[in-house]
Amino acid sequence: MNGFGFVQLRKLLYNSPVRIIGSHLDITHDKYNEQQLELSALEAKKANKAKSEFLSSMSHELRTPLNAILGFSQLLENDRKSPLTHVQKEKIGYINSSGNHLLSLINEVLELSAIEAGKMSLSIEAINLKEAIDESILLVQGLAEQNQITINRLETELSVLVVADYIRLKQVLLNLLSNAIKYNRQGGSVTVEWEISRDNIIKIKVIDTGIGISLKKQDKVFDSFNRLGQENSAIEGTGIGLMVTKNLVELMKGRIGFESIENVGSTFWVELALSEQVNTEKVLLTTNQKISGDIDKIESEPSVKKRVLYVEDNSVNQKLMSFFFEAFEPLELSIADSAEKGWEMLSKQMYDIILMDIHLPKMNGIEFTHHLKSLSAFEHIPIIAVTAAAMKQEIDETNDIFDYYLTKPINISELTTALKNYQ
Ligand code: ADP
Repeated sequence: MNGFGFVQLRKLLYNSPVRIIGSHLDITHDKYNEQQLELSALEAKKANKAKSEFLSSMSHELRTPLNAILGFSQLLENDRKSPLTHVQKEKIGYINSSGNHLLSLINEVLELSAIEAGKMSLSIEAINLKEAIDESILLVQGLAEQNQITINRLETELSVLVVADYIRLKQVLLNLLSNAIKYNRQGGSVTVEWEISRDNIIKIKVIDTGIGISLKKQDKVFDSFNRLGQENSAIEGTGIGLMVTKNLVELMKGRIGFESIENVGSTFWVELALSEQVNTEKVLLTTNQKISGDIDKIESEPSVKKRVLYVEDNSVNQKLMSFFFEAFEPLELSIADSAEKGWEMLSKQMYDIILMDIHLPKMNGIEFTHHLKSLSAFEHIPIIAVTAAAMKQEIDETNDIFDYYLTKPINISELTTALKNYQ
């Protein structure tokens, strides 16, 4: 049972009068107790479901204004026709980084609630540990360079296979690595090593030479929203990363822990089971599709105007997309504010690409897409979802019908790359 359910259940049980007379129970009381327990469990389940639904809709509501904040600030930052001054760029940079901070907070809260609600689906397989570590290091290299931190990695040709979910393992490594960089000192180092610690168990260590964690704070490290005093520092964070990390490790049937000395450094470690297929050649990896947007390239493409239809009811989102397309002349944008309007426009003119919001007033974007994909006249048109529905479960449920899936707030370079793919 997850934390929320347990708290609910405990509250109900401890407030229940049955417990008071429970010390001298007869069979009828036992039965009564059992029924109460079932009732409480049901209540807890209902409360959990309500919490999940609340978080999902909150995430949606927060993403919509964030889409405008981050979208317009990216447009300003990349505006080549009227470039910003240095000072303006710096100011926009603050809007961007604060917006992104808020976004990571929303994402982590969602992630945590998905874990708590038991909605996190993992695909456990034999993962090549060295490859997962290499890829994770690559992703934090930029952050390390900014902070003048050197990353050392155990050099080994041994390809160890661990039992894990590839994407989640990378998420765990990224969290530990970025913490080791963030809470380091200038010119410090981070070392990643792994060893076989016990029978069939591999211990991965992320060692840093940073600020460390004082003894009196150590028992709160995995608490959610506890930044152990760093909330007053310039180091950005949400205080949920380690909590999510711990949950993910445990979902992969592993263990996580740390040792730390204040002002000397910390070693965070993760133990995972070794796969029986040790030293096999290559493992099939489900890597995240890498998006490397290049806004300029769209402009330099041959200028046959392709038509893009954007089905979106929110006027600020419509404006954002219009501004975006103004800068990229080979593509011409038309907007429909409902599926019904979109259908009317599609019956008059062919479009090359459709951008589809999901939460639309009457017929929603998923139904509309299903409808279009079932008709031979439209089945070939690429349909890109542009949506605030960003919970993994929501994405998994709808991913198959769309040719591409973009979540709000829109990342301009990701949008550019997606459009380029279908141009
Ligand atoms: P945050 O988003 O604040 O980094 P985490 O959940 O990842 O949240 O970590 C919780 C807190 O634990 C951090 O705010 C920081 O005070 C402390 N912490 C985590 N990793 C390290 C580390 N490698 N060295 C020192 N302190 C750390």
